[in-house]
Order: sequence, then C-alpha cells, then structure tokens
Amino acid sequence: MISRRLRESLDSSICIRDIFEEGKKLAAIYGAENIFNFSIGNPSVEPPAAVNEAMKEILDTEPALKLHGYPANVGHPEVREHVANHLNAKYDCNYDVNSIIMTNGAASALVMICNTLLDAGDEVVTFAPYFWEYKSYVETLYGKLVPALCNMETLQPDPETFRAALSEKTKFVLINTPNNPTGAVYTPESLRMICDILEEKQKEYGHPIYLVSDEPYRKLAYDMEVPYLTHYYQNTIVVYSYSKALSIPGERIGYIAMEPCVEDYHDLIAGLTASMRYLGYVNAPSLQQKMLLKCVDASVDISIYQETRDILYKGLTDIGYTCIHPDGAFYLFMKALEEDDARFCEVAKEEKILMAPGTAFYGPGWVRISYCVPAKVAENSLPGFQRLFERYQK
Ligand code: PLP
Repeated sequence: MISRRLRESLDSSICIRDIFEEGKKLAAIYGAENIFNFSIGNPSVEPPAAVNEAMKEILDTEPALKLHGYPANVGHPEVREHVANHLNAKYDCNYDVNSIIMTNGAASALVMICNTLLDAGDEVVTFAPYFWEYKSYVETLYGKLVPALCNMETLQPDPETFRAALSEKTKFVLINTPNNPTGAVYTPESLRMICDILEEKQKEYGHPIYLVSDEPYRKLAYDMEVPYLTHYYQNTIVVYSYSKALSIPGERIGYIAMEPCVEDYHDLIAGLTASMRYLGYVNAPSLQQKMLLKCVDASVDISIYQETRDILYKGLTDIGYTCIHPDGAFYLFMKALEEDDARFCEVAKEEKILMAPGTAFYGPGWVRISYCVPAKVAENSLPGFQRLFERYQK
C-alpha cells in the first residue's frame, strides 16, 4: 500500500505525459504527419556535435576505473573550477570552486535546495503560471508552494500578488526565466521590482529570503540576454541545467552556483552536500561532468526553435487567437476559447492537436503549446487551429 500523502498527490496531478502518450497512439492510427503533438517539452534540436566528441575523447583517454568511480559528492574539482571561471568571465561574478555543486539536472538541484532550506510548513513563493513539478518538489520536502499570479496581459510578475504571497514563513522565492510554461523572459524592471520587495521583506522579517533562479532555458532566449540575477540580489542561488541548452535531458547534468556573499553560505554548502547524499543522488554523472570541460558554454542551434516560434505566433494571432509573444524557452501560452481549458484541449484533439491545459500550471483559461517540433509540423497544424477557431465562432 503506498503512502496516503503520495496517493493524494497522484490523484490530483494532471499528467501531461499521458497526453503525450495519447498523441503517440493517435499517430499510430492516423499517421505521424497528421498528428500535432504540442504537449511535452522534449528537446527536438540535435545536440551540438561537440557533446558526443567530448564524451568519446574522454572515454578513449581517461583511465576507466577513475572515470567511472565515485567522484566527490559535489563533483569533480576541476569541473567545478572550470564552471566557476566560465561564470565569472561571462557574468562578472565571484564564484570559486566551492561555490559550484554539480547536480543531476535542475530537478535534483531544486529538491536539494528544498531539503536544505525547508522545515515543515515553510513556504516557497513562485510566479504563476509555473512548471507543475515545483509543487511536488516543495511538498515532498514538507513545504508549501505559494503562487503569485503574473499579470496575465503581459505574463510578467505582478507587484501586488507578489507582496500578498510573501509572509514570515517564506524561505525562498523560486523564479524561472525564460519561463515554462509561458515562454516569457522577465524584464529587468520586473526583476528590479522583485528584488526591491525582497530586500524590504528580509528587513521586515529579520531573516534571509533566498531567490532561487531556475535557469534550464537561459540559452533559449531569442534576440535578448537574460539578466543574471546575482547582480540584482545578494541572496541569489542559481540553478542551471544542460537538459535544454544541449538537448541532453536524459544525461542528467547541471549545477548549483552560489556566491560566497550569500547569507549562511557555509551552512548552505554543507546542507546541499549532505542533501546530495541523503536524497540518494550521491553525485552528478562523472562522464557528463567531464564533458563540460569542453562544452560548458555550448548551445543547440536556437534559430531552429525560433523559426517554429515565428510560424506559430504569426499563424495563431492571424487566425484570431490571443497569445503573448514568447521571447524564450520553447513554449507559447495561448488563451483557450472557453473558460474550461481542459475541455478546450479535448475539443482540439478532434483536430488532432494536442496541447497541455493551463490549469496544470496554475494558469486556468490558457493552454501551453510546446513548439519543440519541426517547423513543418507547426505550419501543417495551422489549418486545424483555423477549424478549431471557427467551431467556437458558431
Ligand atoms: N525547471 C523547469 C522550469 C523545467 O521546465 C524543467 C524541465 O522541463 C526542469 C526544471 C527540470 O529540468 P532537468 O531536466 O534539468 O532536471
């Protein structure tokens, strides 16, 4: 018998993977070219050649026993130093070898941070719509996720809802830009607003409120730089992942970066290191860590995603849909044509279009379109979107 806690969470979760699997079944019946599966965020652009080349070279040259043995829990020192040097040069930061902890992607990093910071009942504020797994990460570690709804005209954080979400129990604020599910890149003005409020609230409550920046989509920003948050707020903890930047989500590699000026730095490093073990991650995969010695700043060709984004955004807005221009990640948030976004997704299936309902991301009345599909698929989906639109005009 599984735990009541997990049973309740399983019963209440909307499983986007189920929609994706349904899309695969439909593809088997109607032909893959006739199904438009925009449900899941699985990278569709080839990893850079440098990734495989680096791995082959490491496998050919490194002593096998050493390469495949346990590294330090926090990662290979030469890799952590390399990451620190890269970040210092690129973003003008003050990281050193001890400031970097190699992780199994962003997911484990976030769970480790929850384990390190949260006591039962502590709160984590995040801007909604948000990546649905945040709730599980926080609640599994006995915390409470408190959403602060963005301004739904701009998809930027809203000062009023943010202030209202903060309390004495807030341990950290979790921010994700470029954002899953909206594709929004938060502006420097939004970030300044968030950090000013946080400074004020830290003083009022008399304890640190950390800002955890979850950045798996940092490299996927179109025609703009994503501001680096350590320049806005001292108590910033950065979580980076190579899952989307290099199209290698199955390889599980990323890191936590924290400057020594962060309050309670040494305790945090000790807590994160212990959490790596206690939660059973032990260490980030050794081969993938070493690969970063060659690929620390590499990226997939994002112009491929950008082309698909442009086709969909123009096509959908020309038809008459309301979408907010997505500047990053590979997601487009679109207003559903009826209040019940789950039902709208069901109706869209009749046109062989699969999308994720906004309710799954605390964005009811909207849907998420994951456009990590070939440009041709996006183009061919538009007549179906047109028919869907016409149904709702009748
Ligand atoms: N955070 C966000 C916003 C995501 O969209 C994802 C994955 O889709 C993750 C974290 C987890 O990514 P990773 O594969 O690095 O664990």
